[in-house]
Amino acid sequence: MYDALTSRYTFPCPGGGDSRVALSDFRELSRLPGAAHPAVYRVRFACRCGEEHLGLVSHDELDWAPLGLAAGSFLNLMTSRLEDVAGELTDLAARRIQGGDWPWSFFCYPEERPRPVFPSAFFLLTPGGGSLGLAVRCPACAKVSVNLVSEPHVDVPFHHDHEIGVVEHFFADEPERIVDEFAAELHSARFDARRLRLDA
Ligand SMILES: [Zn+2]
Ligand SMILES: [Zn+2]
Repeated sequence: MYDALTSRYTFPCPGGGDSRVALSDFRELSRLPGAAHPAVYRVRFACRCGEEHLGLVSHDELDWAPLGLAAGSFLNLMTSRLEDVAGELTDLAARRIQGGDWPWSFFCYPEERPRPVFPSAFFLLTPGGGSLGLAVRCPACAKVSVNLVSEPHVDVPFHHDHEIGVVEHFFADEPERIVDEFAAELHSARFDARRLRLDA
């Protein structure tokens, strides 16, 4: 379902065939109630066919697969041998995280500071004007922040935009209101640039 070498998720397209999409093609994520081990997320994604469809992703596929933890095997062209890529990627990811380099980050507006995060904390994504509006529920303070980021900031683990846009708005806690406020704030363009340095 997730291919770590191409950073793409595969979902069936109701129009026929499979759709391979990036995390930045997700439009909405919501954790399904009930299924706790493993947690399952319902995803609305922008399909290559032009429509949006629903798909299901496990917590592991969201947060761990992009780091290579379910990558499987690949053919090493130098040695012509099938090798296990998962071990190497996992090692590298673990070392970087231990060194303070997080795979994903965002700027928490209520706390006025950058925070490390995992994709399961993203819940709304809207492209526009060359960037991506991203709503994140902060793992530390549980408040919602909206950042304007590049697609690689979301799709490529350990890639962080040097500067991101931060919507200067305290969002409601009710999920229904957040969706409306998110759209309204993105259009109002009331955002400010913040530096994303986690060690700052
Ligand atoms: Zn489709
Ligand atoms: Zn926070």
